[in-house]
Amino acid sequence: MSKSLIVQKYGGTSLGTLERIECVADRIVKLRKTGVDIVVVVSAMAGETDKLLKMARSLSKNPARREIDMLLSSGERISSALLTLALQSRGIPALSMTGRQIGLQTDSTHTRARIKSIDAQRARKMLKENHVIVVAGFQGINEEGDVTTLGRGGSDTSAVALAVALGARQCEICTDVDGVYTADPRLVPQARRLDVVSYDEMLEMASLGAKVLQIRCVEFAHKYKMPLLVKSSFKERDKGTLICEEDPKMEQPVVSGIMCDKNQAKITLKEVPDQPGIAANIFEPLASASISVDMIIQNVSEQGHTDLSFTLEREELNEAMVIMKKVAKKIHATHVSSDAKIAKLSIVGAGMRSHAGVAAQIFKTLSAHKINILMISTSEIKVSCIIEQKNSKLAVTALHDIFKLENKPVKKNAKNKTAKKMSAV
Ligand code: ASP
Ligand code: MG
Repeated sequence: MSKSLIVQKYGGTSLGTLERIECVADRIVKLRKTGVDIVVVVSAMAGETDKLLKMARSLSKNPARREIDMLLSSGERISSALLTLALQSRGIPALSMTGRQIGLQTDSTHTRARIKSIDAQRARKMLKENHVIVVAGFQGINEEGDVTTLGRGGSDTSAVALAVALGARQCEICTDVDGVYTADPRLVPQARRLDVVSYDEMLEMASLGAKVLQIRCVEFAHKYKMPLLVKSSFKERDKGTLICEEDPKMEQPVVSGIMCDKNQAKITLKEVPDQPGIAANIFEPLASASISVDMIIQNVSEQGHTDLSFTLEREELNEAMVIMKKVAKKIHATHVSSDAKIAKLSIVGAGMRSHAGVAAQIFKTLSAHKINILMISTSEIKVSCIIEQKNSKLAVTALHDIFKLENKPVKKNAKNKTAKKMSAV
């Protein structure tokens, strides 16, 4: 491709009304004047996906996932056509495209499909002919040609995948926040926007409930070294946060961000027989139902029995409980209970690799505020604790304070590598 290409994704809030769509069109006109090729990926208008889901659920207790995909994919089609019309009426040759038209092939896991490949031939041709392409995000087609969707927030992933497939210079996620923050600014007003975040840190943050980006989008960007810029679609002159590779020459911040995910739930099985194969019996049926489990703890066994708890996304609690009640019977566990009033508090920083004592500092701070820790897990660059949901704000604020995140600007050099071509993902 001769001209450089930028893929810009606009989220639902940025396209929430016709006025907002007009503003986005104006922004694209301006960007086009800088001489770049543009592919826009859109989400459904704000609230649309939830509205459609609600309609489906009011007609069916357990709606078929295939039909949900058929239904939800319409939201993105609407916004892509509307934005295209707004661009055309500004004299821009623009063309809307669905997942099928853009050649986005997925597997058949309806409502959580994974991208297999993108055949972007037609898109390339249209770009050559000087069009702005407006792609309906979040959707693709499976081998049978049925519509699939990529999971909530999936337009982010569509955008990165397209950026990789088309060899874009950068993928910009234009959203209602102006970047990635040290903590949720609604929870901690003194939170600071980060200029640069490494893929590793962002992966942890995204999986931990920093709802800025869908995690798969970050995985994708990481895999193909596609620079991701998260910025505001409202503020004109906004730098945003660049997500890219870590610069090995720079010292990494010990703590970059603190997240608190309230969309968590915990399931506990009591008096599980302590025998080989029991854990497999518990977690295999969940895996078959595509329910991801996060933290798992098993207590020390007493008289051949143990208690086992695990966490998962709250949305999947009901489905998981149905499965667990069956499993409990099968393995002779005495009791299954759930708790949806928990939160996962997580502290992330690439510098944890080389600094000792971060976990101890976290526990000390929580204890000073009399916050009980229900579960703990760690990775190289992260410490997570399950706490009671009511303590969320207190915990985040206290830790933000103790790690001095508000007044210690972190300088990191961005490495902005050119994207590689994607084969199949
Ligand atoms: N409209 C879908 C959702 O609300 C996909 C997206 O916004 O990226 O989850
Ligand atoms: Mg969205």
